[in-house]
Amino acid sequence: MANIKHHGAVSGVTGSCHQLFCDEHRSVLVDCGMFQGAEASHLEQGSLAIGFSLDHIEALVVTHCHIDHVGRIPYLLAAGFDKPIYSTQATAQLLPLVIEDAIKVDITRDHDLIEKVLSRLRSLLRPFPYDEWFDLESLDTRCCFRMAGHILGSAYVEFDIPEQEKGSTNHGRERVVFSGDLGAPYSPLLAEPAAPEQADCLVIGSTYGDKLHEGRKNRLLALKQIVERCFSNAGTVLIPAFSIGRTQELLYEIEDIIHHSNDDWQQVDVIVDSPLAAEFTEHYRSLKTLWDQEARQKVMEGRHPLAFEQLLTVDNHTDHLRVVSHLKQSGRPAIVIAASGMCAGGRIVNYLKALLDDPRTDLLFVGYQAEGTPGRDIQEYGPKGGYVELEGEKITIAAGVHSISGYSAHADQKDLVDFVKGMKRKPKEIRIVHGDDLAKRALQVKLQGLVPEAKVWIPKH
Ligand SMILES: [Zn+2]
Ligand SMILES: [Zn+2]
Repeated sequence: MANIKHHGAVSGVTGSCHQLFCDEHRSVLVDCGMFQGAEASHLEQGSLAIGFSLDHIEALVVTHCHIDHVGRIPYLLAAGFDKPIYSTQATAQLLPLVIEDAIKVDITRDHDLIEKVLSRLRSLLRPFPYDEWFDLESLDTRCCFRMAGHILGSAYVEFDIPEQEKGSTNHGRERVVFSGDLGAPYSPLLAEPAAPEQADCLVIGSTYGDKLHEGRKNRLLALKQIVERCFSNAGTVLIPAFSIGRTQELLYEIEDIIHHSNDDWQQVDVIVDSPLAAEFTEHYRSLKTLWDQEARQKVMEGRHPLAFEQLLTVDNHTDHLRVVSHLKQSGRPAIVIAASGMCAGGRIVNYLKALLDDPRTDLLFVGYQAEGTPGRDIQEYGPKGGYVELEGEKITIAAGVHSISGYSAHADQKDLVDFVKGMKRKPKEIRIVHGDDLAKRALQVKLQGLVPEAKVWIPKH
């Protein structure tokens, strides 16, 4: 059995950080993510600092650059970590942007300090292409990134490590697979992940382990209908979204709706209010080799899925405030996409404060809202005419509140089960992480049914 310690994503979905032992002493970290929402509020002040020993940790392997997987990297560096950081090539391009943003939000705006951290990070990064096995420096361990179809650059990771328990039939090697966050089939822009050939041990995330997503057609239609309602009542549609991944998927879908519609859709402003999202959109545009077949076909037809005419990006803070007050006064139909995805900080908060108490506003959730986040509160109390607390202010929710789960860049229960089903040699051990209790338990039941002889379990700290 593989020896793995879980330093996060065991009591919820955030703070992904797993320590895989490659021999008795030495180990690698897989992800080093930030805690968010309720999971963060359980922590004592200052405990974002790395709470485990870095002795004999020889590397960090990054699955993808969402903040709940990489957000504690600055703390890791501050704790003295100076080992290689392995990632896909696209993730290596994007990671410094994400870390810079995270530092600015959470730690400091001191330019010199930020530059110091970033140059340290760049010097440690070791980018590798997908589907290529490589050796981890100074370890008897090989590693391979496979497309996860979740966000640009995302990977699930296969490890080939020396066998931890003697005397089994594996010829002295063991295969350990970390799913990271797996994408869903039919999601925009990126192809769905293919199952690994084999695994002895699988560590699988279960964000939507108890859900089945709506089909892609319903999702597009729901988006279209909600936005069209805003054309008729002259309000703003606010979509809180991660800057990375979700924003680009939404733009891609909105372009498709505009392409097949006329009238109002040709006029509506689509506002991306996030400098980080704008930069990421650039990278998505330039890395077309990672797009799926459908997306590349659109480009061949002369369309620009991520750079259409109605698209406006808001860069500096003054412009941001100007747009917020303009929309509040004018009630002009517009679609605003802004971070953070769970309404816990970021520019979306100013929009919510200005527009949530206006019945013309519609708020559209397209992503997972973790417990304890304002997003979850709005989802829960909004339809009952309740309120939400934002930056210490109580805001009444008069806006329409909608959720479309089909937009999730996360695999649902069937996709997760298919991931295991597709393996030629099934794991002997499956560890379920990165999910609410219900999701984890539902997935556990399904996977145990699929692989009855395996140990399928939910690790705690
Ligand atoms: Zn993710
Ligand atoms: Zn995640």
